[in-house]
Amino acid sequence: MEPYRLKLKEALEAIKNSELSPVELTEAVLSRIEAVDEKVKAYVTVTKEHALKRAHTLEGSNEALPLKGIPLAIKDNLCTEGIRTTCSSRILENFVPPYESTVTMRLLDAGYVLVGKTNLDEFAMGSSTENSGFFTTRNPWDTERVPGGSSGGSAAAVAADECIAAIGSDTGGSIRQPASYCGVVGLKPTYGRVSRFGLVAFASSLDQIGPITKTVEDAAILMNIIAGHDLRDSTSAEVECPDFTSTLGRDIKGLRAGIPKEYFSEGLDSEVEEAVKKAVSVLEQEGLEVEEISLPHTEYAVATYYILATSEASSNLARYDGVKYGLRVEAKSLLDMYLETRSKGFGQEVKRRIMLGTYALSAGYYDAYYRKAQQVRTLIKRDFEDAFKRVDVIITPTTPTVAFRIGEKIDDPLKMYLNDIYTISVNLAGIPAISVPCGFNSEGLPVGLQVIGRAFDEETILRVSHHYEQLTEWHKRRPEL
Ligand code: GLN
Repeated sequence: MEPYRLKLKEALEAIKNSELSPVELTEAVLSRIEAVDEKVKAYVTVTKEHALKRAHTLEGSNEALPLKGIPLAIKDNLCTEGIRTTCSSRILENFVPPYESTVTMRLLDAGYVLVGKTNLDEFAMGSSTENSGFFTTRNPWDTERVPGGSSGGSAAAVAADECIAAIGSDTGGSIRQPASYCGVVGLKPTYGRVSRFGLVAFASSLDQIGPITKTVEDAAILMNIIAGHDLRDSTSAEVECPDFTSTLGRDIKGLRAGIPKEYFSEGLDSEVEEAVKKAVSVLEQEGLEVEEISLPHTEYAVATYYILATSEASSNLARYDGVKYGLRVEAKSLLDMYLETRSKGFGQEVKRRIMLGTYALSAGYYDAYYRKAQQVRTLIKRDFEDAFKRVDVIITPTTPTVAFRIGEKIDDPLKMYLNDIYTISVNLAGIPAISVPCGFNSEGLPVGLQVIGRAFDEETILRVSHHYEQLTEWHKRRPEL
C-alpha cells in the first residue's frame, strides 16, 4: 500500500518497526499533495521545506515519541510559530504568529510533522469553505460539491489521503459536518477538554479543537496527545484525562442510547435517514438498548446559536483594526483607516455576522436577543442533562443531507445556517460528539452518524462509534481522484 494511505495507527507501527521512516512517509504525503491538491484545494499553505527538515531531524534522533514522524494537517486558524496563519481571511493573509498554539505545541512535543495549513470558511464562519477569502475546497468524493465547513480543508485532506490525520475546530459543527460530508471521522471534545490557547477565537464559549481522522482509534490516539488542562486557557478544565483508547474494543451490551425524535423530522433527507436508522439497528443487534427520547428545545437551537455566536464574534473580531497585526489600509484619518481596513479585509459573511452580533449586543436590544438567547441556551443544555439521566449516548444524523453542490446555498444564509441543525445544540450544551461514516447515498456520497455523549465522557462515544466501525466497511472506502 502507498504510505500516504496509512491510518495513523498503522503509520505509527510502520515507523516503530522501521518498515517506514519519517522522511519516507513525509515525502509520500507531500507527493500525494502535489498530485491531487490541484483538484481538492485543501491547503492554504503547504509547508514542504519545513516538513522535510523536521522529518530529517526526527529521523536522526532515537527518542521514542508517540507521534514520531507522522504528517498531519492543521486548520489554518491554529497559530503556528513562524508559519503563516490566515484563518482564510484577507485580513490575516500575511500574519505570521510569534507563538505556537497549545495543541500544535503538544503535537510538536509528540513528534508530529506539519505538512500544511488547511483551508476554512473565513474565521471558521460557514459550512462549506465557500466563505474562504481565498478559494473553495472541493469534496474529494465529487469535486463539484462542497467538503463541508468550516474545517473543510482538514476533512478533505484526510479523505484524499493528503495527510495521515488532521486537526480542526468546531464551534457549531465545523469538525463533524465536514467529516460527515467527506466520509471520515470527526470528534468535537467536551468544551474545556482541549486548550484553545492559540486558536484564533470565533465564539469563545463554543469553540473547541478536535481531531479529523480515518478511524475512531486514530481520533482517540490524537486525543491522548492534545487533551488536558492548560494554564494558558482559563476555560480549559482541570479534569483528569483518561487513556482515550482504553474503551475501544469493549462491547456495548447494556449501554443505553436515545434517539431524539426532533432530529428525525422535516428537512431530513430520506437516504440519510435510512442509513442512520440502519446503523442504529446494527448497534441494537449488538446489545445497545435503544429508546426514543425528546430534546424539546431543539427547534430554538439554530436561532440561539446564531445570536450567541455572532455576538461573541463581533466582540472577538474587534481586534482586527489595522493597528496590532494583519492588514492595514492607510487612509486620511484613524477612523477611515479602521473602516478601510475592515471593509477590505473581511468577507461578506464575516461582515454579516459582525453586524448581527453588534446589533444583538447593543443597548436596547441586548435583553431581547443576547440575554434571551443565553436563557434558551440553558434550556437546551438541560434537555441534554435530562436525557443523560436515562441514556448513555444520543444517536442522530450528523447533517440533514449529504454534501451539497458548490454555489447551491451560498446566496441564502438561512438555508446555509439550517444545515447546522443537528450539530449546534451540542456546542451550546458544551458536550462531546463524534461523526463516523455510516453509509453512502445512491450518488455515492458519504453519510455521517453522530454519537453524542455526556460532558467529559468522550470514552463512551468513542467506544460506541468504534464498535460500529468494526462491524462495517464504510470507513474503508476511499474516493478516486
Ligand atoms: N457552520 C457553523 C457556522 O457557520 C459552525 C461553524 C463552526 O463550527 N466553526 O457558524
